Amino acid sequence: MAVRVRFAPSPTGPLHIGGIRTALYNYLFARHHGGQFLLRIEDTDQKRYVANAEEYLLEALTWCGLTPDEGPVQGGPDGPYRQSERSAIYAVYAQQLLDSGHAYRAFDTEEELDQWRVREEAATGQPPKYDLHSRMTLRNSLSLPPEETARLLASGADHVLRLRVPENETISFVDLIRGQVSFRSEEVDDKVLLKADGLPTYHLANVVDDHLMHITHVIRGEEWLSSGPLHILLYRYLGWENERPAFAHLPLILNPNGQGKLSKRTADKLGIPVFPLNWLDDASGQTWMGFRENGFEPQALLNFLALLGWNPGTEQELFSMDEMVQAFDLDRVHKAGARFDFDKARWFNQEYLKRMDNGVLASRLGQLLVERGVLHDANALPAIAGMLKERVHLLQEMPEAGHYFFEEPRSLDEAALRKKYKVEGRPVFDQLLGELQDCSPFEAEALEAKVKAYAAQTGQGLGVLMPILRLALAGTLQGPPVFDMMAVLGKEKVVQRLQQNLDRFDALLAG
Ligand code: GLU
Repeated sequence: MAVRVRFAPSPTGPLHIGGIRTALYNYLFARHHGGQFLLRIEDTDQKRYVANAEEYLLEALTWCGLTPDEGPVQGGPDGPYRQSERSAIYAVYAQQLLDSGHAYRAFDTEEELDQWRVREEAATGQPPKYDLHSRMTLRNSLSLPPEETARLLASGADHVLRLRVPENETISFVDLIRGQVSFRSEEVDDKVLLKADGLPTYHLANVVDDHLMHITHVIRGEEWLSSGPLHILLYRYLGWENERPAFAHLPLILNPNGQGKLSKRTADKLGIPVFPLNWLDDASGQTWMGFRENGFEPQALLNFLALLGWNPGTEQELFSMDEMVQAFDLDRVHKAGARFDFDKARWFNQEYLKRMDNGVLASRLGQLLVERGVLHDANALPAIAGMLKERVHLLQEMPEAGHYFFEEPRSLDEAALRKKYKVEGRPVFDQLLGELQDCSPFEAEALEAKVKAYAAQTGQGLGVLMPILRLALAGTLQGPPVFDMMAVLGKEKVVQRLQQNLDRFDALLAG
């Protein structure tokens, strides 16, 4: 049987990177097994619906390159792929469950339920559950005389449909990641299947769609594990037990300190993103940071996320998409939560930057510089990007890390200067400046030869010359190779900057 998996987000807010990881694992699993990857929008919860959330999630998936084979945009044989367009389908199965006695009508109003909850909690200290213990004390077609149910129905009374969870049963299933999981039916609520407005809840819609869309493996976050027994019952009562998809519940992604589920608030406090793209929260006016806007390469993010819960079984950390597809399977996904380590994400990004084409980086860097109003010579950018990519984790850091390519150095490592430079040594540098002015072509190799020859001729060690050149050009001892820097800056700027900054050094040390 061909593998068919789905990513089934609810547009109740921006997609968290945990969602991207779920989408990724589904995608990898589908590709690894030559199967299909579907996108289904689970938008049945009108109360929690957030405008733009679907658009956001489509944009995020596109940015990551996780393109579904079937979905609301692509279409496909099992559509529509948006649950709000499938209401008529769910009603049929809800009726079937009602007819077979596995679902019942519940007439309790919101107020009645609220009062009941308050009463029960006061009496028992626990919030009550609508389940096989309590159902006979509430107003539903199981507890009410049939005439009363008929009367209520005839009068058009609002009601929901609830699942009738069986008594005294152990509901078990094998989870591909967790092994055998069991729940006692006493612990399972009589969940609402169809709401008063006739729309299904997540549980009914999810199971019906997974069946109708021929899903073979349900791969989703751990938070859905507790829905497992409910879904198992639904498959059974709908007569689909033998064709039920396999379940795989992915481990949680934990906060950077390893404590608790990764939350946007913790991340925000730490100044790190947990969303793929920026998201403007209309209600609060707050913008939640995105990986994209922080300068991450989507491939680097995916590589990082792939290893947040999956162990390839080798030391390999860097994977191309093809390699990931080859190596990925569910048997190496672990149960334990995976700590979200932002520095590791940055490390991945750096590794990707290093491997990127300088021309591509140059045009992106150019864009950033334009946005920031930094004057630059576009022709020099490929070489500059090539040097800086070894030294930054994110593209966004390049303008700052290499600011001296575009303007005067903003600061000076004075301690280093005092250690390496004496005013009396100035004539040596003035002469060297003359040599550099004569250097043609003004390229790294020729410059290096020139400086080395000068050092040999005059007996000045390179250890004396180089740090001062560097400090005069960039203000710091860190940075790309000096001769490469000089070549990129060009003769005019180099000579002018050296002259000017050597004068400054003299003044500083004299003062
Ligand atoms: N709509 C659910 C979500 O938002 C889907 C869970 C599942 O994959 O079954 O994650």
